[in-house]
Amino acid sequence: MKKQDIIIVGAGLSGLGCAKRLSENKIPFKIITENIGGRVKTSPDGEINYGAYYITADCHNVLSYVEKIDLVHFGKAHFHKDGKHYHAYSLRMVKHIPAGIRLLIELFKFRRHVQRVRKSAKDISYQELIEADPYLKELYHQKAGDYIKKHGLEKLTREYLEQFLWAAFFTDPRNVSATVFLGVLLTVIVPSYSFKFNFEKLTSPFKGDIILGSIIKITRSEKKFRLESKSGEVYQCDILVLATPMDVANNLLSHVVKPQKIKGGINVNYYHLQGKLKKPYDVSWYNFFPIEEGAVISRERDGSYLYFYGERDNVSKYFDNWEVIAHDKWEPALFFYGDQYIDSNPLPNVFLANDHDVPSTEDAFINGHYTAKLILELLNKQT
Ligand SMILES: Cc1cc2nc3c(=O)[nH]c(=O)nc-3n(C[C@H](O)[C@H](O)[C@H](O)COP(=O)(O)OP(=O)(O)OC[C@H]3O[C@@H](n4cnc5c(N)ncnc54)[C@H](O)[C@@H]3O)c2cc1C
Repeated sequence: MKKQDIIIVGAGLSGLGCAKRLSENKIPFKIITENIGGRVKTSPDGEINYGAYYITADCHNVLSYVEKIDLVHFGKAHFHKDGKHYHAYSLRMVKHIPAGIRLLIELFKFRRHVQRVRKSAKDISYQELIEADPYLKELYHQKAGDYIKKHGLEKLTREYLEQFLWAAFFTDPRNVSATVFLGVLLTVIVPSYSFKFNFEKLTSPFKGDIILGSIIKITRSEKKFRLESKSGEVYQCDILVLATPMDVANNLLSHVVKPQKIKGGINVNYYHLQGKLKKPYDVSWYNFFPIEEGAVISRERDGSYLYFYGERDNVSKYFDNWEVIAHDKWEPALFFYGDQYIDSNPLPNVFLANDHDVPSTEDAFINGHYTAKLILELLNKQT
């Protein structure tokens, strides 16, 4: 096999999934990245997750690298709407039982299809797998709002689901794809946990190949790619993997290939706080608010709070007093508007790994494995 220099840009779960599979196949590479973990980001003491918050028991690939912390469950939710404050499992829920049963039946069906797709997705693209499954294909291209109407879930959504799901989408859940809508609701039937990711364990086989840096420009001369970093270093490679979010990939590749049409992104702001919540909000776990308020507050196991909000910073509405540990934003957090797939191999030696087609830690990690498989095939062809 001819020696080829491979560079992966990005060490979120997509880049690390790709690196893991290449390393298992003894293919040399370098990773250049601004950080390790990307949108799996913790507070400086490593205790509180500022990005990805939970994983389910179905995330078999990332589960080997996480310490499960607490059960994340709908039953821990407190809702606030129209001046009323109610618990997830209260008398108000009774009138929603028929809709709830319809939803549960759908969730069990959806889970079976997702499990089947995930089993093959390290070797076949999510696009091919979803398009070949008529049930998932319809859901992928259907807006959750239409799905909710079709299954008579409007009232359940208005009273419970839209608030619960704002915390996952940071937007009205009716605007996202039905696959994403059901994907997050799987937490109702599959045990889900907050977690601590063990990046040491995952990166140990290729730790020496990780370079911290930020790539600002990529050009191509002859057959080599030339990568310039913010601090002035220049790197060259034959095979380039961009394992960054798609907006970043489009920008970085703008001198090399036409930008791809991508889904719309959703921004969100967050606080990590110590403080005292006002009376109706002073609950043990999660506070969910009407989607017009665009907010969610969770009490963390160390007694601190995470407060995520969309447009309006309402910290003084919810807290009597507070001390800020961190205040930042994700721009964007996730790409949820639309149903485009991306081409993960837009040029013969350029590969993309990310969570664009199917967003989540598990699916980003699997997608990285898939990208590595494409590279292995390319290298085999060149032998
Ligand atoms: C607030 C929030 C909550 C979420 N909640 C959940 C959840 O509960 N469960 C779940 O499963 N998923 C959740 N997700 C989604 C999940 O975090 C992502 O799907 C997944 O982590 C994406 O991994 P990735 O590797 O594709 O991208 P990223 O994690 O974004 O990784 C990209 C990598 O590229 C690097 N990079 C970017 N630009 C450059 C550059 N110019 N030069 C060098 N390196 C660069 C970054 O430093 C990073 O390491 C959440 C995300 C957010 C933001």
